[in-house]
Amino acid sequence: MKSTNHCDFGQDSAPLDVEAALQLLLGKARPIVGNESVSTFDVRNRVLAEPLTSPVDLPYWDNSAMDGYAVNTSDLTANRGRLQVTQRIPAGGCGQPLAPGTAARIFTGAPTPKGADAVVVQEVCQRDGDWVILPLQIKPGANIRRQGEDVRAGDVVINAGTRLNPAHLGLAASVGSERLLVRRRLKVAIFASGDELIMPGEALKPGQIYNSNRFFYHALLDALGCEVIDLGIVADRLQATADALHRAAARADLILASGGVSVGEEDHVRPAMQREGSLELWRIAMRPGKPLAFGHIDAKPFIGSPGNPVSMFVTFCLFVRPFILRMQGVDSDLLPLILPARAAFDWPARAKRREYQRARLTTHADGTCMVQIFPSPSSAAITSLTWANGIVVIPEGRTIAIGDPVDFIPFSELTT
Ligand code: AMP
Ligand code: MG
Repeated sequence: MKSTNHCDFGQDSAPLDVEAALQLLLGKARPIVGNESVSTFDVRNRVLAEPLTSPVDLPYWDNSAMDGYAVNTSDLTANRGRLQVTQRIPAGGCGQPLAPGTAARIFTGAPTPKGADAVVVQEVCQRDGDWVILPLQIKPGANIRRQGEDVRAGDVVINAGTRLNPAHLGLAASVGSERLLVRRRLKVAIFASGDELIMPGEALKPGQIYNSNRFFYHALLDALGCEVIDLGIVADRLQATADALHRAAARADLILASGGVSVGEEDHVRPAMQREGSLELWRIAMRPGKPLAFGHIDAKPFIGSPGNPVSMFVTFCLFVRPFILRMQGVDSDLLPLILPARAAFDWPARAKRREYQRARLTTHADGTCMVQIFPSPSSAAITSLTWANGIVVIPEGRTIAIGDPVDFIPFSELTT
């Protein structure tokens, strides 16, 4: 790690590589304190605060995996496969112990009766009034799901620090959890810096553009289960920026801003942070998204992204997202999964900085995953984000030829 660069306000020193910047940033993320009990219906994307221990076995009892006949396999040979059907056990029912020489008509999910050691699927059986004729070669244990084979009462089924996805919700419900103790929501204040910005719905005057970053922020933060405190658009003036930062710090756990972090004289986020709080500005050896501002204002962390929407989006996905996850108390999977794929493009000139190109992964009939990049490498092309289904990483110093192995990060790993 190049520690001499981490307080880089100048233009001249060497930029940090992505890993070093990420490590610096994550080293400064402090998990918030405070939990709340929330209905299992509503905990998607929240972070579990205590381990979830199952009070029950799963399955709860031995049960049938098929519609068919519950038997004792030793009876089959003794009765040459012909058994009397003396009971019927649907799901939700509960049978009697199986008397010797008998079978129970049984349905998927129903408890297997005491004495039964297999279920024979109905398709291979022949019903004859109250009797059934079954094949002789049935293995003990066939088509029975055993009590506790998935979960034992007392097992931890979800660890604390897990970000809860739909599968976790289903599991929690299946062990009977009506509510879960989760971390409170992270409060994130956002603003967009720039005199040129107006909101959709307003008429554009010359020189103005719509504030798209606000929409990125809301959607990305919503997916992370954050509470958004929206301070709107802040004018390109030092005092207005300083006031917005203090207002944000008074209400939020984390402050995010887009724009105004470069070193131009119309960039006021950087000087406002320097004057009112503390600021570390990192130049990161990546494209898009070179400057990333990090600091504290009134003891609250602040991350400022470049204003260019594509840069803002990419820096959010790569840096802000893991920072938020760590502040939320997430213990694992902070970083996205990277898929190995093959380039369907050429990158003939050596990349000076690491390139995060907007890319589309497609799977071909022979099973290879090929990645195309958006035709224009310009980071101003916002349609590149809707065309793409992820990002391809082009390492610094590398050229790429068609067919070369490349790393692909799906948006599903970055925006959910
Ligand atoms: P800045 O980082 O403030 O120098 O802005 C870089 C570029 O991004 C400029 O072209 C800005 O007009 C544009 N930009 C800044 N903020 C936003 C925003 N919230 N929405 C859309 N474009 C923006
Ligand atoms: Mg600006």
